[in-house]
Amino acid sequence: MERSSSSLWRKIRSRYDLVGNECKNCGSNYFPPRVVCRKCGRKSKMVEKKFAGDGEIYSITRIRVPPDTFKDEAPYFIGVIKLKEGPMVEGHVLENGIEPKIGTKVRLRFRKMYVEGDEGLIYYQYKFEPV
Ligand SMILES: [Zn+2]
Repeated sequence: MERSSSSLWRKIRSRYDLVGNECKNCGSNYFPPRVVCRKCGRKSKMVEKKFAGDGEIYSITRIRVPPDTFKDEAPYFIGVIKLKEGPMVEGHVLENGIEPKIGTKVRLRFRKMYVEGDEGLIYYQYKFEPV
């Protein structure tokens, strides 16, 4: 059961890949993707770009009182990650024995996000792991 819903979600790129875009006119990167480059306006040349998922923690918060969706996971960390390509991304930060703090290097991981309803539909999304 878990395997089949996993393969379903792996097909939906934005759920697990960091697909944003790049302006070929000036080199600016965006996530989520923008229609028009903030710097170039009408001269924008936007092309899809997949980010590697390497970055560092820009800010970090420990969630002790979560929304119902994540009640089984608390406490957990939510961070704003500055990708090496520039964009900022918010996401869960996994605990692996390395203390997640500002400046900690992280890498993208694909993880189970939460289980919905009595039928146990499993959602997947990217998370970040300290390295
Ligand atoms: Zn631009």
